[in-house]
Amino acid sequence: MKEEITITIDGVEIKTKTGEFILRAALNAGIYIPHLCFHPDLPPHGSCRVCTVKVNGRHMASCTTPAEDGMVITSDDAELLDLRKAVIEMLFVEGNHFCMFCEMSGKCELQAVAYRLGILVPRYPNLFPQREVDASHPDVMLDHNRCILCGRCVRASDEKDGKHVFELMERGAKTRLGVDAENNLGETNLSIDDKALDVCPVGALLIKDTAYRIPIGERQYDKTPVGSQHKGNK
Ligand code: SF4
Repeated sequence: MKEEITITIDGVEIKTKTGEFILRAALNAGIYIPHLCFHPDLPPHGSCRVCTVKVNGRHMASCTTPAEDGMVITSDDAELLDLRKAVIEMLFVEGNHFCMFCEMSGKCELQAVAYRLGILVPRYPNLFPQREVDASHPDVMLDHNRCILCGRCVRASDEKDGKHVFELMERGAKTRLGVDAENNLGETNLSIDDKALDVCPVGALLIKDTAYRIPIGERQYDKTPVGSQHKGNK
């Protein structure tokens, strides 16, 4: 049986259960720790590092680090803010993210976290990679330019949809999102109601014929900044 334990995040004591991941414990207690590859309905991945915190002084991904009784965690300090900003800025320059004409603007988690962290201009040069748009599926568009390789669609397709439509292929700078087909998305068994489509944090996976229904200014993060239901500010 899981025991109740106490951990401290930025000086605030919270109760959680043994083995609960720090990020989930924080969010459940109303404390926002910025995150991107984490999704509450999916197993954690620990790949984006946006949720990095200091645990007893050591840098750890809070989404994959189990809480232990008495842990002292720092999430809100200048060093971690700069580290998170650097990660988000890298994601922007590694892809082609043009918010002004993206359907997801105002609903995009990458954009929302960038605003939340106060990012104005990336410190790194834009790479402007040559990437393709896969519009071969009758209902879904996959725009590799906007994919941040968070792996949410991979986990959702595997764990929730019982399929294996997506896969992260190769490693390092060559990592890319692959589909389980010889040529393109249109050859997969992806369905319009798959969970994999729901969980994409950016505009990389879009359902066709539904775009721009919610006007700019009325979208989720236009109304309330990401994490505003939680207490932490950075
Ligand atoms: S398509 Fe979306 S959910 Fe899938 S890896 Fe790319 S950004 Fe993440």
